Amino acid sequence: MEAAASYLLSSGRRPSPSSFRGRSPIHHPSARSDHRRFLCSQESIRRSARYAVLGAGFAGLSVTWHLLQHSSKECHISIDIYDEAGLGGGASGVSGGLLHPYSPKAKILWRGSESWKECLKLLATAERAVERRDSARRSHNQPCSFDGPIILKRGILRPATTEAKVEILKENAQNCFKNCTLEVLDGKAAERLVPNLAVPLDFAIYMPQAMNIHPKRYLQALFFACKDLADEASSLRVAKAEVRLLKEHVKSLLELDEKYDAVIICLGAQAGMLPELSGNLPLRKCRGIIAELDLSTDIEEYGSQSPSILSNAWLAFQSPRSVLMGSTWEWGSTNHVSHVTLQEAEKAVKEMLPKASAVYPAIKKWDFAGARAGLRAMPPLTPLGSLPLLGCVAEASRRKGASCRHWLVGGLGSRGLLYHGLLGKLTAQAVISADEAVLPSELTSWKSRVQTETS
Ligand SMILES: Cc1cc2nc3c(=O)[nH]c(=O)nc-3n(C[C@H](O)[C@H](O)[C@H](O)COP(=O)(O)OP(=O)(O)OC[C@H]3O[C@@H](n4cnc5c(N)ncnc54)[C@H](O)[C@@H]3O)c2cc1C
Repeated sequence: MEAAASYLLSSGRRPSPSSFRGRSPIHHPSARSDHRRFLCSQESIRRSARYAVLGAGFAGLSVTWHLLQHSSKECHISIDIYDEAGLGGGASGVSGGLLHPYSPKAKILWRGSESWKECLKLLATAERAVERRDSARRSHNQPCSFDGPIILKRGILRPATTEAKVEILKENAQNCFKNCTLEVLDGKAAERLVPNLAVPLDFAIYMPQAMNIHPKRYLQALFFACKDLADEASSLRVAKAEVRLLKEHVKSLLELDEKYDAVIICLGAQAGMLPELSGNLPLRKCRGIIAELDLSTDIEEYGSQSPSILSNAWLAFQSPRSVLMGSTWEWGSTNHVSHVTLQEAEKAVKEMLPKASAVYPAIKKWDFAGARAGLRAMPPLTPLGSLPLLGCVAEASRRKGASCRHWLVGGLGSRGLLYHGLLGKLTAQAVISADEAVLPSELTSWKSRVQTETS
């Protein structure tokens, strides 16, 4: 794995197609087959497709939504989502829910503007699905679906913490895009947004459109949206559409082989546990802990209009009396359990509190209320940044004469929320058209490197 990652950094060279024959389960883009089977695309002569989506996190639900949206109206489609822990049982459900398209140096991330747009579309879709449900519930005098909103807070503030960063942040702030702007603030202006903020270098960057969301509510709502879209499609078109969530553990791709036309692997940090992919994904695992803090009643609340805060530790405010403080980075951990022991939590708080209080000293007055953890699937660093891994995989297990049946959406790293909309859309288009070439080569080129490593 390390070797594959270092190869990625060291070479942009593509190996010759002959080096891919037979050995590794990774399917090479140039091996596009003449036997491409269009699955419910406009060109399709097939009238049905069965999909398995493995994983019900950000990636899995985005793929599901886009498969439903992009399939031909005449096609019967059925999607089974497998997740052993249910919706948001992995990193997505525990994440901090912070969403913006910039690096810590305020540089726009690779395809940041497009990813931002796709993510906002999915958020709006999820919100609409909740509204639909709630208006139906209200007419039956039933309580609302959730006990709070999906979008918890708008605006994120990043005070600079080192001299070196000030100049870089200033320069990068000039290249923001209009749908998610960056404003340069001095200490006083920043304090007007967050009273009692410490701005050590009298400089902060403000992202007014950035936000933090409630990830579990969002995933539940996106699942509602998928169900609604399937029902609506069934009522409007000749063929039917179905979505099912199966709370089952998937041991291998082989066990699903006969049942589905395509399997999309969205298992986060667990993708490499499938025997067909084991040892072939250049992913590093990294456990992160988030602490939940509450404010006791006699202390002044956090302003409802004040933004969340990013620094060497972040503070994602959930309400005026509740905040998430994150996060730790334990590289190499394989512990994907979300439960955090008291000892682990104490260590994490000890590590994060000095960082958070350097910019927001009042956080020391908040009380520890709990902790949760998740495992990130970190992709290799490339000259374009840490890019997710997409593409056709597991060629070895595909049926004779068929084109790609197994697809990966992996390595979302610490940016799953930003990237999931775009990745889900691109992957659905590739799956439906059975054409890997619709995926940007920057997201599939990891396979060439892995192939070279293993050949
Ligand atoms: C502490 C922490 C904080 C984070 N904060 C943020 C943030 O603020 N903003 C942001 O954008 N990103 C954040 N991230 C990153 C983000 O959570 C991930 O990028 C994202 O969740 C990855 O989504 P995924 O769908 O690929 O994987 P996951 O959400 O991990 O989904 C994989 C799913 O597969 C299921 N599964 C695994 N193996 C099997 C199996 N064999 N059979 C059946 N089901 C299986 C799991 O139960 C899980 O639900 C954070 C991550 C961590 C750990």
